[in-house]
Amino acid sequence: MTPTRQLHPSHPKHELEWVNRQKSYKCDGCKEGGFGPRYRCDRCDYDLHEACMFPKSPTTHDFFKERSFKFFDRPQGNGERYCDACGRDIEGFVYHCKEANLDFHPCCVNLTRVIKVGVTEFRICEEEAPSKCCYCEKKNLGKDTKGRSYASTCENSYYLHVACVTKMIAENSKKDYFRSGDGDNENCLVLKNRVPDRRLSLNRSSKGGKKSRFWKIAEIVLSTLTAILFGNPTPVIINVLLLALNP
Ligand SMILES: [Zn+2]
Ligand SMILES: [Zn+2]
Ligand SMILES: [Zn+2]
Ligand SMILES: [Zn+2]
Repeated sequence: MTPTRQLHPSHPKHELEWVNRQKSYKCDGCKEGGFGPRYRCDRCDYDLHEACMFPKSPTTHDFFKERSFKFFDRPQGNGERYCDACGRDIEGFVYHCKEANLDFHPCCVNLTRVIKVGVTEFRICEEEAPSKCCYCEKKNLGKDTKGRSYASTCENSYYLHVACVTKMIAENSKKDYFRSGDGDNENCLVLKNRVPDRRLSLNRSSKGGKKSRFWKIAEIVLSTLTAILFGNPTPVIINVLLLALNP
């Protein structure tokens, strides 16, 4: 059991309390987004992901099993730093491997190489994605970024940058599409994104309005990734409404 309130060295004035708010927030440790339960000081509007509240140092990462990572409260090394999982900037708390010059956001440490949904697997691509990401339509995120992508192993492979999942959710939180559901749908997040890939925008199959098999899988994968990237310990129920750019 994790404690309900505790002091953290990054906020020595007051204890941080474990609160369950179904709202998005910016973590004051790693500066990344979050959603749902978190450690919080109400007086100062100070929030920490659970992963940032209780870092494990040293730790390992499923992407680089032979490496060891240490926790730091600020970016290490020279120049601008990027997360080697999601490709986004490192601006605060970080896990760093000096020998291999690798960095991870505290939440990104929990990403795994494989996400299994029934018989379908989403695997981390070792190199750049061999095909375009179905969200941003690019193979690479940018010249200097090292973000990874997941590839599905179903008939028509789909590629998705880890960073694009974060982007999809961030765009939604700006538009206030986060909503706390009612009753048993407590932990609910509605994604409404415009995607260029027509295949992805087809929420429902033509027959009988039943969700296609791919969509059932995509929802589970997005829920899993959202829960990890946004430091939400309970799986988020995602209601995915992706709209085609050119309907
Ligand atoms: Zn954080
Ligand atoms: Zn405070
Ligand atoms: Zn990251
Ligand atoms: Zn992408």
